[in-house]
Amino acid sequence: MKVQLLGTGSADGWPNPFCDCGSCATQRATGLARAASCALLDEELLLDWGPTLANSASRLGISLSKVHHILFTHGHPDHLAPEFLLWRSWIKDLRTLHIYGPPHAISRFEHWMDPEAPVVLHVVQPDDEFTARTASGHVKVRVLAASHGHGNGDLFADEAVLYDITSTDGDRLLYATDTAALSSTTVESVRDRNFNLVLIEETFGRHHSHGTGHLDLATLPITLADLRAVGAVTGSTDVVAFHLSHHNPPLAELTHELAGFGARPVDDGTVIDTRASAFGCTLVIGGARSGKSTFAESLASTRAQVTYLATGGERLNDPEWRARVLAHQSRRPTSWTTIESTDVVSAIRAHDHGTLLIDCMSLWLTHVLDKADAWESDPAEHQGKLDRVGAQIRELVQVISACPQELIIVTNEVGQGVVPPTYAGRLFRDLMGITNAQLAKVSSRAHFMVAGQVLPLASVAPLLTKDAHA
Ligand SMILES: [Zn+2]
Ligand SMILES: [Zn+2]
Repeated sequence: MKVQLLGTGSADGWPNPFCDCGSCATQRATGLARAASCALLDEELLLDWGPTLANSASRLGISLSKVHHILFTHGHPDHLAPEFLLWRSWIKDLRTLHIYGPPHAISRFEHWMDPEAPVVLHVVQPDDEFTARTASGHVKVRVLAASHGHGNGDLFADEAVLYDITSTDGDRLLYATDTAALSSTTVESVRDRNFNLVLIEETFGRHHSHGTGHLDLATLPITLADLRAVGAVTGSTDVVAFHLSHHNPPLAELTHELAGFGARPVDDGTVIDTRASAFGCTLVIGGARSGKSTFAESLASTRAQVTYLATGGERLNDPEWRARVLAHQSRRPTSWTTIESTDVVSAIRAHDHGTLLIDCMSLWLTHVLDKADAWESDPAEHQGKLDRVGAQIRELVQVISACPQELIIVTNEVGQGVVPPTYAGRLFRDLMGITNAQLAKVSSRAHFMVAGQVLPLASVAPLLTKDAHA
């Protein structure tokens, strides 16, 4: 299941355009504005269509031509902006669009229906179950009751629903906005669902007396605890907080707080693929200070469970090295598990869930050469030592290609300078080049980093396909 978040913000977005509070000012300074919440599932099914969606999709380079199911949670204008039906009706030969939502929400489409346009409206209510046909199979949908109403006669809020969705590949998503703490009936209805991904609202942050049908940093952890108690959220569930507003603390603080109860925020545009193993191995290669570690970490930051393997070892007698390691550590999310080891092969073999980020292979190779005592040119034992190093490189490549979990591997490009003056320097340069070429062969994709910029290299999969046809 591939879910792209086209918006992660509240009705007003974050920052609120009229507000100069610290939370808005910090968010504004990052340039990472958050549009109204909306998610796209496997390119074919949309959850909510708010007023900012069309623009968000276009900015992200996404076409919505394949979308032919839209599930609406409720009729509030940040979730349902019906005028898109008009622009859609200007495009011919699109497939029939199925629109689902509670009754008052669906009635908002009344004035926008072109009798000629292929659109079917479906009214849903809690406990309904239906199947949405997509190009790749069937998506199963269960409708759950939200707790969005708060007694002021707002019909859109009172009828609001949430969606429990099983994608074509069997992965499960809980789409939970807008809602306050879930009722015991709703919690019970998702018993043992073991969701792969939960998108849950976190509108009000540290404001606890808002008296609205939304969650805040006091009620969200209680709701998550309820979902954990019935096995709806488990250790393997990726919990993403969205519908974020400026009532939340600045992002760094929010990230830290959410990590405390097993949730995370992501930026608008983030793609979450619940099939981590579908990512295979990603190689990030670059010179010193090229930005390779930062880029690899940003790739990993979109994954739910990350183990970070630092190959540098402890080096207790080297303060400059320690300072570097600490700077790297402070950059990484606290939810990541860190391992410090030069035994990369064992770490990959032992890795049985989530994403393993390895930084970096040049330190691994240094360690292998140290152990083989291969740095000096010594005609008598030379070949035997190099054979041992070669065998270890082959073992590494074999373990990587057999790993069923996602790997992100950082490695150094060291072959672009002048020819090293020493035997050891030349040996290392050559073996690093050989190792990198082998790693690229077993990677699904590779990125070359230069001057902080990313240059995607041709992925291996299409090359194999070409060979197969040749
Ligand atoms: Zn909303
Ligand atoms: Zn609402």
